[in-house]
Amino acid sequence: MFNKKSIEDIAVAGKKVLVRCDFNVPLDDDLNITDETRIVGALPTINYLMEQGAKVILCSHLGKPKGEAIPKFSLAPVAKRLSEKLGKEVVFAADANVVGDNAKAAVAAMKDGDVVLLENTRYRAEETKNVETFSKELASLAEVFVNDAFGTAHRAHCSTVGVAEFIEGEAVCGYLIEKEIKFLGNAVNNPVRPLVAILGGSKVSSKISVINNLLEKVDTLIIGGGMAYTFMKAQGYEVGNSLLEEDYIDYANEMIAKAKEKGIKLLLPVDTVVAQEFSNDVPFKTVPNGGIEPGWEGLDIGEETIKLYSDALKDAKTVVWNGPMGVFEMSNFAKGTNAIAEILAEIDATTIIGGGDSVAAVNQAGLGDKMSHISTGGGASLEFLEGKVLPGIDILNNK
Ligand code: ADP
Ligand code: MG
Repeated sequence: MFNKKSIEDIAVAGKKVLVRCDFNVPLDDDLNITDETRIVGALPTINYLMEQGAKVILCSHLGKPKGEAIPKFSLAPVAKRLSEKLGKEVVFAADANVVGDNAKAAVAAMKDGDVVLLENTRYRAEETKNVETFSKELASLAEVFVNDAFGTAHRAHCSTVGVAEFIEGEAVCGYLIEKEIKFLGNAVNNPVRPLVAILGGSKVSSKISVINNLLEKVDTLIIGGGMAYTFMKAQGYEVGNSLLEEDYIDYANEMIAKAKEKGIKLLLPVDTVVAQEFSNDVPFKTVPNGGIEPGWEGLDIGEETIKLYSDALKDAKTVVWNGPMGVFEMSNFAKGTNAIAEILAEIDATTIIGGGDSVAAVNQAGLGDKMSHISTGGGASLEFLEGKVLPGIDILNNK
């Protein structure tokens, strides 16, 4: 059960409320925001606090300035876009120290319902080390702390964990975190069954360990993308130049055995689309298991595999998907990923998409709005699925 207090459980009128948002938006070379999903995601909490008459102080990190006030990582463009979205000026507290004289003056001048955005928390070297000094400075600005940054909830930083320890009043979650936990929590702890998880993508070493825990929860586990070849190799098939985690071959065999023992369907590719180069402009073909020749690499799941996976998904009632089935950025190798996205859009199930590239793939297929939930945190959602405690949520006050 999710028992953390949320913004609706506490009084905020007239109070200074520090909100940790996830404004880690992509910027182009001219510092234009190229995807505003994260800004839009933060609006419900900000709007609620404004309507309640709180003094809303926002903070976030952006990119990796590593403790230096590097202008290209400034949150200034976010203040501008956010002002447009809220229909109200968001005062940007430009300040190399984040909580320096400028920020303090901006906060001191606030009236109820006003919004101030602080500078990038990672301008301070203490931030990612969760050092007390900066946590206390952040806490000193406000009476209440709200964490609404799901994407960084798996990191114990000053602005996610430290500040919650030192804030004078309550530390609670915002709407975005509440929604994430509702969907992800239900999916792993209380799912409508059958529950199917789909894992793919290229960050194999960081994702493969989730399988052990998922096998305790799911009815079916589908594996595609770069993740698949370690399992193929474990089954005794050659994989050529495909992505492979040699160190995990034994683990893959253990997972195959565990699934069998528990009566869980672990689905692996039966055919693979291969090419001799990582390129959309070279010949490609589909081969059955064992057919990947030296010099060739797997770049997508094949037609037979698509059929197998589609069948397994037809009756699913809850689906969690993290990681594309192939190199979807190249049209020749996007078929597997698109087929899965289409099936998920059709079936009568709760569908949850996590992972930056998986979300991009679903949006590229034009099916984003057909999914039940698009998670804003790839790493955080995986750690949550693994059964790990997210420190940025754990620290918040219980109901
Ligand atoms: P997410 O961002 O959804 O968590 P990852 O970052 O783990 O996913 O992986 C996404 C990347 O995986 C994509 O850029 C995609 O091109 C790549 N990928 C998928 N299948 C393969 C494959 N067979 N070989 C190499 N890369 C792959
Ligand atoms: Mg990714």
